[in-house]
Amino acid sequence: MARTISERLSNILVCPFDHSRLALEQARFSCQKCKREFQLSGRIPIMLDPGLLQADVQKEDEARKKEEMEIFDNLSSYQDFMNRAYLRAIKEDISNSLLSFDLKDKEILEIGAGISLFAGKLAERNRVVLTDINETLLNQNPENCDLVVADAENLPFPDRSFDFIYLVGILHHLPDQKKGMQEIKRVLKEDGKVFISEPTKWSVNLIYYLGRKLLIFLLGKNFVRKLVGCGTPDEEFLDTKELKKVFSDDFQIKIRKISPIRLLPIRFFDNLGFVPKINHILEKIPIIKNFGAIAQITLLPKR
Ligand SMILES: [Zn+2]
Repeated sequence: MARTISERLSNILVCPFDHSRLALEQARFSCQKCKREFQLSGRIPIMLDPGLLQADVQKEDEARKKEEMEIFDNLSSYQDFMNRAYLRAIKEDISNSLLSFDLKDKEILEIGAGISLFAGKLAERNRVVLTDINETLLNQNPENCDLVVADAENLPFPDRSFDFIYLVGILHHLPDQKKGMQEIKRVLKEDGKVFISEPTKWSVNLIYYLGRKLLIFLLGKNFVRKLVGCGTPDEEFLDTKELKKVFSDDFQIKIRKISPIRLLPIRFFDNLGFVPKINHILEKIPIIKNFGAIAQITLLPKR
């Protein structure tokens, strides 16, 4: 069945770089101001810098984004990664937190949705837009959501567009996390809310991070890339201090850390079914709970 972009989506899209209006002509949008053109792929607009789509990108940040675009084309390795037993326990916790926001008739944005675990449910009572830098993953999402290929550092939406924005494990994929956070702030409505789940820097993740740096130093990036399987070797985990710098003026920030033990997403650890149970105990112990490997962050507007 031939499918085209929804009228609602084509009405809200703007140029990701100067936020100017776009003209839609024959399956492509063009920016009135910078003259960049963005293609439509079925119902999905590809709102990336045309330079990023070229075979040979020069800048380091762009090369990283390109790698993120391509690495997730492998659906089976993505699904394998997402179905690791440890991640299933984490996802359940995140899902409970996310669905505890009682959202109805809202404009909702999920950034870096991949194959979203939450959007289908939210879209039953709200209007939901999903972005991801990878079209293959995005394409797997439910019919009741609008889909946009976009770079989280340059979102193709006008200022103050959404009532609720959420992202799960996305910031550490961005070359410029601060820019990603500023984009969230920009496209959020004045009384809007945000939910972010993200691996934290000051936790067991620091050991993984330093271990990976050491491996890159000893064996090279390509080796580590193969070892990681899904994701790029350059990612850096979130320092919540940096997040507070961006959001604390305008938002009340609530942080709940979970999972002091974080296992690597490899098959071997699937047998360690008792780990989530130990985590649930550790999460209740003062001091230890501050070193949870995953932060669930809620941003509420200051009154
Ligand atoms: Zn433009």
